[in-house]
Amino acid sequence: MPEGLIVVEHPVLEDRLAVLRDIATPHGAFRQALSEASAILAIEATRDLPTVERSIDTPLEAVTARRLEAEITIVPVLRAGLGMVDGFLRLLAAARVGHLGMQRDEDTLEPSGYYERLPHDLGEAHVFLLDPMLATGGSAVAALDRLKANGARQLRLICLVAAPEGVQAVRDAHPDVPIWTAALDRQLDENGYIRPGLGDAGDRVFGTTG
Ligand code: URA
Repeated sequence: MPEGLIVVEHPVLEDRLAVLRDIATPHGAFRQALSEASAILAIEATRDLPTVERSIDTPLEAVTARRLEAEITIVPVLRAGLGMVDGFLRLLAAARVGHLGMQRDEDTLEPSGYYERLPHDLGEAHVFLLDPMLATGGSAVAALDRLKANGARQLRLICLVAAPEGVQAVRDAHPDVPIWTAALDRQLDENGYIRPGLGDAGDRVFGTTG
């Protein structure tokens, strides 16, 4: 397994991924499975977040407990990353949400940014970049560039399916950014799709056809 890549192993995640891969899954069920898979990825990718000791009162007595008070920001890459937001926010309701719009040229596969709206003060935040498909890695590298340019220092990339080429590209450009994924697939094809993959994630989330 490449360094810095965590392939999350969990039977429920495997089941959700099977639903997502299946061409017969309609967009409503796809959206729900992506949200559930994202929640599992969120649990795994937040394992080492710091907590602080706090004294709280139960109905019966005072107890010392640990709270998660770290500043957390999630940043979906538009459009497909939007399908992962709900799963993350179910667990991290207080997180701030930034947005990055990245599109890739269909011929050159090069990414370019078309939208950017990020919270201020990313320097102290634990920033989770959400993009279900890590294909060439171009969009992820460009998005991480933008987040670092805006001051982010503690970054994690969360995807659902990764291609070896995308993992390598992110590792080369941003070796400090760990990657969580549900699956490391075989390869990219000549059109930049991950094989076996699940098709165009954005189209499947939103019920569009390209
Ligand atoms: N983007 C997708 O949505 N799917 C792929 O297979 C590759 C990039």
